[in-house]
Amino acid sequence: MGVSRRPTPAKTPAEVRRLLSRLETQHPGAETALRYTNPYELLVATILSAQCTDARVNEVTPGLFARYPDPPALAAADVADLEARIQPTGFFRSKARSLIGMAAKVAERHGGTIPGRMEDLVELPGVGRKTANVVLGHALGVPGFPVDRHVLRVANRIGLAAGDDPETVEAQLTAALPPERWTVSSDTLILHGRRICKPRPLCGQCVIRRACAYGRAEWGARPGGPPRRARTTRAASTRGRHRPARGSRRR
Ligand code: SF4
Repeated sequence: MGVSRRPTPAKTPAEVRRLLSRLETQHPGAETALRYTNPYELLVATILSAQCTDARVNEVTPGLFARYPDPPALAAADVADLEARIQPTGFFRSKARSLIGMAAKVAERHGGTIPGRMEDLVELPGVGRKTANVVLGHALGVPGFPVDRHVLRVANRIGLAAGDDPETVEAQLTAALPPERWTVSSDTLILHGRRICKPRPLCGQCVIRRACAYGRAEWGARPGGPPRRARTTRAASTRGRHRPARGSRRR
């Protein structure tokens, strides 16, 4: 994904906190888009969200939760029925195996209750550190900092973190932030990555562009608009389509 390897983040912990506060003003109330009413439902939804949009998962889960309302029910699921229900989310065979395996282990080892510790969650089939952090931070009241591809891209561009290993980036960001800000900061970076700091970033709409080296290079620090390079690029892209009339003045 083109993320450079750097040993330490460019920004100090104080700058990380300040910049994330600024981004929170651009994305107030950042939260996961997955719909759930309890930790079990969020864990299932998060497993289904791999390689799938949250919107698609939200279309599937109401019927799924009605049919399989808790881990014991899901552990006893008919595989063909489960696969058919989750088929729209993709990779449905492996996801069905993960869901049934997860539910069976939760039922057997944790009495049907989703455990509230990272070390227990990552022992469950289909549950990695990112998924565990989603559930801990959103549904279990335990600080968690999910690092997905958006967090990796955005945090590296801004200089909040350095590296393409999710666990390393998680460690850098959690070291700079108080635990009570971990989950909302992750949600904020994810939303920023989806809305503004996309693979081709919309730096002109970004509230922190003057503090972002990547943004300054892409857009420039001047408030009036894009730098000469961006204007030139845009002019080149439209050349031939909106050719001015001969003799017309340039504005
Ligand atoms: S200035 Fe551009 S590259 Fe930097 S965070 Fe904003 S959108 Fe991303």
